[in-house]
Parts: sequence; structure tokens; C-alpha cells
Amino acid sequence: MSGIITKVSGPLVVAEGLADANVSDVVRVGSQRLIGEILNMTGDSASIQVYEETSGLGPGAEVVTTGLPLSVELGPGMLENIYDGIQRPLPEIRALTGETISRGVQVAALNREKKWEFDPVAEPGQHVDAGDVLGTVQETSAILHKIMVPPGLSGTVKSIEKGEFTVDHVVAVVEDYKGKVHELTMVQNWPVRIPRPYSQKYTPARPMNSGQRIIDTLFPIAKGGTAAVPGPFGSGKTVVQHQLAKWSDADIIVYLGCGERGNEMTQVLDEFRELKDPRSGRPLMERTILVANTSNMPVAAREASIYTGMTIAEYYRDMGYHVALMADSTSRWAEALREISGRLEEMPAEESFPAYLPSRLAGFYERAGFVDTLSGTEGSVTVIGAVSPQGGDFSEPVTQNTQRFVRCFWALDRSLAYARHFPSINWNNSYTEYFNDLIPWYSENFGEDFTELRVRIMALLNEESSLMEIVKLIGADILPDDQKLIIETAKVIREGFLQQNAFHATDTYMKPADQMSMLRVILRLYDGAKDLVTQNIPLRQLVDTGVFTALERMKFELGGGKPAAEFMELVDNAVASVRRANA
Ligand code: ADP
Repeated sequence: MSGIITKVSGPLVVAEGLADANVSDVVRVGSQRLIGEILNMTGDSASIQVYEETSGLGPGAEVVTTGLPLSVELGPGMLENIYDGIQRPLPEIRALTGETISRGVQVAALNREKKWEFDPVAEPGQHVDAGDVLGTVQETSAILHKIMVPPGLSGTVKSIEKGEFTVDHVVAVVEDYKGKVHELTMVQNWPVRIPRPYSQKYTPARPMNSGQRIIDTLFPIAKGGTAAVPGPFGSGKTVVQHQLAKWSDADIIVYLGCGERGNEMTQVLDEFRELKDPRSGRPLMERTILVANTSNMPVAAREASIYTGMTIAEYYRDMGYHVALMADSTSRWAEALREISGRLEEMPAEESFPAYLPSRLAGFYERAGFVDTLSGTEGSVTVIGAVSPQGGDFSEPVTQNTQRFVRCFWALDRSLAYARHFPSINWNNSYTEYFNDLIPWYSENFGEDFTELRVRIMALLNEESSLMEIVKLIGADILPDDQKLIIETAKVIREGFLQQNAFHATDTYMKPADQMSMLRVILRLYDGAKDLVTQNIPLRQLVDTGVFTALERMKFELGGGKPAAEFMELVDNAVASVRRANA
């Protein structure tokens, strides 16, 4: 079925004579057979977004529909790879065509020559359902890839092979209950805009720990949860995403570089290649997939990239893995949506974004979750989206709408970043809605006292914020000692605990157990000092022992192996010595 182009407007093409085509069909456009997707149809006229550069294309050129929706290929060989927004492998394309991607090139997403050792799990005669594991492939040294029965199929295994095969080789034959025979390879295709099925979704009840203190203790995200990282340029969004990619206890990372400048993305890619998985010492890329659609690449492919990344994430979830999807930045994605909507001459809503911006954002974040997979194992997709509002103004539509659909909000702050307080997550306007669901897990794993420790730390920070209003007006000197104590303790919390240097050898990551120890030590000092203050012993005397400053450096020493008990002792001795001096 083919039609004829009547109009070209940037990434948008209108073609007539496509009466039999459907919305969402992938089409091939012009003599170069550029890849496009039908956005809407009126009569036999289709509006098509083209995923490649459209220059040189004009009215009269032919458009052919494939009758298929935009899909990705899922199978071994995705890890360590770098894809563009419609899953074309960038390294292979570069090798073929050089730095600038030529148009219309067709390169399969999965390598067709590489052989994988397929190890069968299912046996002939066995009944299998969708999602069941047929066999495994060691995709990288870190990850065992499970070849599953595709969604929608159930039946009996007629035959299954063992050996080294390419992804297109038929490894298993399954007969369904109607007697139809299905030859299964190691590849599944899946339409990116449709969520992959699972058997049940749960309220997430386990944290994704990351070794980043302010995140793990104050604003944790659950595995299967959603978070937004809004912040102005230079506030540390990329560093936060990197730290999570590197240190979080997810099995697989899908990193989506969406609309950032080409050279920034190259830098990200280079850094990723260098990164070592701290747990295995192996390159982090062995459990990472990058999807990159930089600002110099066609805008329509950027729109598609988040669905491509999400579908890949869901596929690994279906194998029973915990996947973290980082999108940097969802603002650039929303701008792509806006540009295409404008070309479609749709009625604009707030700040020219289309009226469906909220529903698209909701649809994206709703695909996160902690699930029972079709085969009954647990798996999750955790989504962390960076938002880069112009001028750091959180009242703009992308930040506002994102905030409606995520349950964790790490608000990066220009003035903290300016003061070199990193991560610049502002503790006054960030929040997490996961905490209550995580309490049972914390009680079991972090200790019964964790909830109380956290509440007390937050309270001290809050009290400091209100005191600072007064201090700004009249200075700290005239405050009574119990209020000065709040300010001294909050300083230890801010500088000693919340600040964490991503580039420091030991400070970059802190075990949750050490984080708990730090909280206990800081609060022990507060309680001891409070006791002294109640007995009218001047706070100055305790400050002069240097114990507050010592606790600000505790993070480096704990990381270097010094036991937390020594800091407890230090605190107790300092308090006791002041008390003795005043006896
Ligand atoms: P954004 O992505 O928001 O534009 P970046 O993530 O690139 O900002 O951060 C800008 C700079 O801030 C970094 O190059 C680094 O110098 C500093 N920075 C951010 N986070 C940290 C951190 N946790 N530790 C140390 N430095 C940081």
C-alpha cells in the first residue's frame, strides 16, 4: 500500500492515498526509505513523523506502509550496546557510514552474526506459558539472559536445541492448543508504545539503595518506584543520575540520553565506558544499555526514545531483574513533543505544549512498577527522570505535570549548587511518598530505630530552617543555647552527612549501615549536649572540644574503615569532660 507526499514540514510529512493504513503504522518515506510513523489519519491522508532528517524530501515522493507498529527487537546483545531512539545500534551505523548517520540505513538492532551459547531449561513434552524460560544465554559476565516464551503463546515444547546459535536460529518449537506450530528464535519483537504484560503489580515495599546518604536516609525511592530530579543547568542532575547508575542495587541500568547536546552525550558515553561496577569490578557497561538521542539527531526519534528505553527495561524485568531506567532529560523529550504538535497545528495548551503532555507523562511513569512477571518471579522497573526547567522555575508545565505522576521528588537547588553543597537536593522541598511502605523493610534491615532517627534528623533540619530566618535578621549571638545547639547540630547534618562528594574515592558511596551509624552518633551528640545545656553549662565549652568538627569529618573516616564505635566514644568522652569541668 503506498501513498504520495503532499507536504513536508521539518520532521512532519503529510501523504495522501493511504486509506488502508492505520494510526501507529511504520512507513517508509521517499526513495531513501526513511523510517516514519503515522500520527493521525483523516480520510486517506496521513500525518507522519519521520525519524530521520527530511531535507531533500518533497511533494510527489512515495510513502509505503509496513502495516506494523513501531517495535523493538528484544534478545541477547542489547547489553553494552548504544542505540538511537528507534533502536538502531550507533556503533555499527558509525562503522558503516561515519560520524553523521546516513539516512535510510538499515542495521538490525541485534547482531545477526554473533553466536550465543543457548542452554535449554525447558524440555520436550513440557507445557509452557507466556513468560516461561525456554533457555538461557550468558549475555555478559554479569547477566544471564533468559529466552522466554513470547507474550500470548502457550503450548507444548515439541523440540528444543542446545548449542551455539545466532539470534535468528530456531532454538525451540512450541505447538499451541490449536495445533499450530511456532518456531521460536532468541528474538522477540514488541511494539514500544504498548506496555509489556506481567501478572500482577504490587505496592513497592523495598528501597532501591544507592549509597547516596540524602537519598537513602531522607528521600528514598522504592524498587519499582518513580522519581523526578528537577534542577536548573549545572545543579547536578547528571551527576545524580550517574551516581544512581553506578551505585544503586539495580541489576540492569537503561540510561536514556534524551536531547542533550551531542558533545555532552559523548562525554556521558565515554564516562560510562570507563566506569567500573563497584560490586564486581567489571565494566559497568556489562549491565547497562544506552539509548542516545542527542539534540542534533531528528526530533521525532527523540519522542520515540523513551518508549524504546522503557520497552527494553520491561523486557529485562520480565526475566526477573530489577531494572533502573534513567531519563536525562524529560524536558528535552517534552520539547520534541511540542515541536511535532506545533507542526501538526494542534491546539496548544500551556506554554505551547500539547494538551496531551500530562497523559503522555503519566503513561510513561505508569510503566514503572514492582511486579510478578508472567512466569511468577519478581522483577521491577524503577524510573528516574531528570527535568531541566528553564531558569530553574519549577512552576513550568513539565515539572508541574511530572510532579503529579512521580512519588519521589529530589528538588535540586541553584543556591546549594552555587555554594558547592552537593548533591544539591534541597531538603526543605524534596519529598518521598514511599517511606511508609518501606518501614517494615527498614525495621528488619536497618534496625528498629531507623524511622525515629530519620524523623529526628528531619525535625532538626526543619527547626534550623525556621531559626535561620531569625538569624538572618539579628545574628546568632543572641540566641539561647538550646537554639544554638540546633544550629550547630544541623550544620553537622548538612555538611557532615548530607554533603557527599561524588568524586571522592571513599565518600562517593556509603553503606546504609554506616549511614545509620552516622545518624546515631550525631543524635548522641545532640542528646548529650542538650543535657549539658539543660544544666546551664554553656554550649561553647562543648563546641570548643572540637567534637562537632570531628563529626563533620566522620564520613571520610568511616569510609576509610574506622569503626563507628570510636565516634560514639569520642562523643561520650567530650560530653563527660565538659560535665566534669563544671561539677
Ligand atoms: P546538570 O546535569 O544539572 O547540568 P551536572 O550534573 O553536570 O549538572 O553537575 C554540574 C557540576 O556540579 C559537576 O560537573 C560537578 O562539578 C558538580 N557536582 C554535581 N554533583 C556533585 C557531587 N555529588 N559531588 C561533587 N560535585 C558535584
